[in-house]
Amino acid sequence: MLVHSVDMTDAPTEGKGARRRRSIAKHQRGRCFLCGRKLDFDLRQPHPMAPSLHHFIPIGRGGPSRTALNHVIAHTRCNQAQGREMPTPWQWMKYVLVMWRRGLVRWR
Ligand SMILES: [Zn+2]
Repeated sequence: MLVHSVDMTDAPTEGKGARRRRSIAKHQRGRCFLCGRKLDFDLRQPHPMAPSLHHFIPIGRGGPSRTALNHVIAHTRCNQAQGREMPTPWQWMKYVLVMWRRGLVRWR
């Protein structure tokens, strides 16, 4: 049985959500979308500095919850502080740059 010869040395040690947060954050240079400071992926929630999935347009304001275009990574604390606030013009500009790096928008 092949099942018994599966090499587990590269088995993921973190869940799908954590891997996804890390891969999105690469395009933010490992920094929080909201405050711009470094993200530490060794921290886990409920630690206030743990990386969390932030919805750019708040779900409470009609933003989609499962659309990659509405996903950025922020510290849990920053995410909570932003709350139901809509993005500022500066955040919109940063958003476009981050989505461009992720290949989700093109200039033309
Ligand atoms: Zn932050």
